[in-house]
Amino acid sequence: MRALTLFADRKLELADSPPPPAPGDGEVQIAIKAVGLNHLDVWGWRGMAFAKRKLPLVVGAEAAGEVAAIGPGVTNFAPGNPVVMYGALTCGSCKACREGRDNLCENVQGIMGFHVDGFARELLNLSARLVIPVPSGINMRNAACAPIAFSTVEHMLFDNAKLQPGETILVHAGGSGIGTVAIKMAKAIGCMVITTVGDDAKAEQAKALGADYVINYRTDRFEHQVRKLTAKKGVDVVFEHVGAETFNGSLLCLKRGGRLVTCGATSGPSTTLNLMQLFQQQYKIFGSFGASMRNIRDGLAKMASGLLPVIDTEVTLDDVGAGLARLESRRVFGKVIVRF
Ligand SMILES: [Zn+2]
Repeated sequence: MRALTLFADRKLELADSPPPPAPGDGEVQIAIKAVGLNHLDVWGWRGMAFAKRKLPLVVGAEAAGEVAAIGPGVTNFAPGNPVVMYGALTCGSCKACREGRDNLCENVQGIMGFHVDGFARELLNLSARLVIPVPSGINMRNAACAPIAFSTVEHMLFDNAKLQPGETILVHAGGSGIGTVAIKMAKAIGCMVITTVGDDAKAEQAKALGADYVINYRTDRFEHQVRKLTAKKGVDVVFEHVGAETFNGSLLCLKRGGRLVTCGATSGPSTTLNLMQLFQQQYKIFGSFGASMRNIRDGLAKMASGLLPVIDTEVTLDDVGAGLARLESRRVFGKVIVRF
């Protein structure tokens, strides 16, 4: 069986590996059909000094597939069912897991595709507990955007920032995989959306997605533009994932009592913070990582009702290096999908 395997930094190869055994008790065997690439993969590909993991490693943190076989005791899946998988090996029994806060599991055994072998292989066995059915009518490449892109945004906007209809939101990097999803989800509930992009072509694409205002951050200071667009009031929510380059400007965009939610630091992990500004302006800052299985189901339900992901490129297994390079270059508008 073929598996996309990382042997060393930037040494990603399509390797031959033995197929999994028949699924065991409570397990489902899944034939992978599409894998979504994320910045997590770019980091993993570049090599991250702080990540505890052993190479070689099968990559792929987000995927969709079809049930190929079921193990003893599995009653809720049948061969042929379209599914997506939760990519963190949670325990299923700690307090956080019991309460449905899966991404706060106290005994998590790693993130697939990053700490432990991931989804970019033809077949794999996984506990049925971590497998989520895909509603009918959703194709595999769209479904592959549910486990990370859609669910991360669901968790950020609705669990953490508690975005309400009619509020104003600044979405950073509106052309990124999660940026495109955030624009669509915020517009779907009737928010006013301001977004930033790095070139004029992306500005047109972001407007076509429904963004009310688009700022080219290379030619305009986004914090000044946001003050202007909101009559100096600021926005209710900032959707952050750019990090060091934008974080302080993002705080300046918030209205008093505004909420900033962040899930990334692609431009760098460290910044300074004016604590006087933080408490006087009564900002609320949320760190958000991953999502719950409920967020994945909610994201799939939105896809079923017509809120679809934006796909930048589909590549074959042989071209995955080009897909990662495209993601790293920030030229993308939407998601990069690898087809099996
Ligand atoms: Zn747990």
